[in-house]
Amino acid sequence: MKILVVEDEPAMVELLRYNLESEGFDVASAHDGDEAILAIEEEQPDMLLLDWMLPKVSGIEICRRLRRDQKHGNLPVIMITARGEEADRVRGLDVGADDYVAKPFSPAELMARIRAVLRRRNPEVGSEKLSVADVVVD
Ligand code: CA
Repeated sequence: MKILVVEDEPAMVELLRYNLESEGFDVASAHDGDEAILAIEEEQPDMLLLDWMLPKVSGIEICRRLRRDQKHGNLPVIMITARGEEADRVRGLDVGADDYVAKPFSPAELMARIRAVLRRRNPEVGSEKLSVADVVVD
């Protein structure tokens, strides 16, 4: 499993990388929206950890674009943000994020949320058919 961390603060990237690698994930990182789009193509991640506040293109906008993308529209996304208000949380989920974590968060909680989202997205039974249902004509 490879996780792409999209975050502009190097300290946060390192913290996330350390925790994710401890859990056995491969980690790639991008520092802004443009890099994120490229990295999704090049790294083929299984999940995105997406910071809301990014230079140039916001995390919300990246998530919105991703959901319209035929090829990568199903990529699981967890939004990370300093904004913990309910309205923001709702907005994050509205643009298609699978889950939402507010800074400061506990790494243990984030890891549990990642595992939960991956379980939901990859149920053992019938996952293949489900994930291609949008593009395959029955
Ligand atoms: Ca940031």
